[in-house]
Amino acid sequence: MLMEKEREQIVEYGKKLITGRLTTGTGGNLSIFNRELGLMAIKPSGMEYFDIKKEDVVILDLAGNIIQGKRKPSSEYGMHKIFYEKRQDINAVVHTHSTYATTLACLGENLPAIHYLIAFSGSHEVNCTPYVTFGTKELADLAYEYMEGKYAVLLGNHGLLTGGPNIEYAFSATEEIEFCCQLYLNTKMVGGGKILSPEDIKVTLQKFSTYGQTVK
Ligand SMILES: [Zn+2]
Repeated sequence: MLMEKEREQIVEYGKKLITGRLTTGTGGNLSIFNRELGLMAIKPSGMEYFDIKKEDVVILDLAGNIIQGKRKPSSEYGMHKIFYEKRQDINAVVHTHSTYATTLACLGENLPAIHYLIAFSGSHEVNCTPYVTFGTKELADLAYEYMEGKYAVLLGNHGLLTGGPNIEYAFSATEEIEFCCQLYLNTKMVGGGKILSPEDIKVTLQKFSTYGQTVK
């Protein structure tokens, strides 16, 4: 079986998306790229996370060919592969329709630095793309463009996409950006919160790089 460890992580982190209330049903998707093999392990299309076994995870090459697996891969795999092709620092991608991030994406607004944990995005601001249809190359291209130099992007009227050097990071980025979106929307309801400066976030990023295992 190819990429057994990555398959197990797809199963494990898929369940964490549900238990962490970051997605519901079959929504969202996640993948892990093995740079040595040039292959990605991705969630199968339309399966409930708690039903997915490691043999259901689909192994794809970057041309989209199924290398191993009997299931259909996630319909949004194009939005994963573009990052593995073009970003050497990204080896895992998580995409969700989590409530608060998606609310902000429906407002078509960028997420400003309402809390220092926005630093998980690698920046003081998370951009929001215009709306385009799910599963299209146009969406993959926009996600890539709006996430340039960062680890998170809001997809207009759709949801959130994060990346990272590994699945632990990409998952944490999803959790923390969802949390920041919640805080931002809460503060907006009572007149708006204080927004941190790009310099504040720069300092946070420097601290993260020397703090525990937070940012690699
Ligand atoms: Zn989606």
